[in-house]
Amino acid sequence: MDGKIEFKKVIEYINLNITLPSNIVPYFEDLILKWNNKLKNTSDYFNMKINHSYITGFILSLDNLELKKLWDNYINKTMEYRVKKMAFDIDMLEKLEKAKKYLDGKHIEFKIENNKHINLPIIIINKTSTITILDENTWDDIKRNIDSKLSTPNNFDCSICCLNNIKKKVSCNKCSNYWCIPCYAEIYKTNNGIIKCPYCRFEFGEKIDNDLILKIGIEQILSNI
Ligand SMILES: [Zn+2]
Ligand SMILES: [Zn+2]
Repeated sequence: MDGKIEFKKVIEYINLNITLPSNIVPYFEDLILKWNNKLKNTSDYFNMKINHSYITGFILSLDNLELKKLWDNYINKTMEYRVKKMAFDIDMLEKLEKAKKYLDGKHIEFKIENNKHINLPIIIINKTSTITILDENTWDDIKRNIDSKLSTPNNFDCSICCLNNIKKKVSCNKCSNYWCIPCYAEIYKTNNGIIKCPYCRFEFGEKIDNDLILKIGIEQILSNI
């Protein structure tokens, strides 16, 4: 995310050139924490507002053009992303609403929830099939995936590891091919948090460089078996 990259530049510059006054340090420390937490929704950006106003006041008082420029860049990128994210959120709500109506109409048992380790909404159909909804998925993609889930048999063989009679499957939301949860966890582990479809090479998810977070993610995936 661009905002995070620009924020790192600000921190690097400060570390090398400036001693922060003690009343400003907590605002920076808190902001670092907020950036290190995975961003979930637009409200996370609003929560940064108080940090941003105090730090902006401090930077304006310094008369340091280079730092001011870095900070302005950071604020602009963050704002840009926030506006984009808000548009995505509205679009996502509409898509989920359509999915809900569609499944209600078919009298199928389903649940919509937020998947913690990839931070995206998922639709779980008949307790066994999971569909991940990406920002870029259109309603047509989602409908095609739902239809494909409904037409595949309840018990299936995983085409990657050849395990037979598997009940729970995860599928690619581009090509609708599916595989078992241990295989899904393996892909997640091998690519450090990024899910790469073995069939169509479509990728989603975020690269995780922290071993502990990756391990927790794998455990969460496997707990769904
Ligand atoms: Zn498998
Ligand atoms: Zn695929």
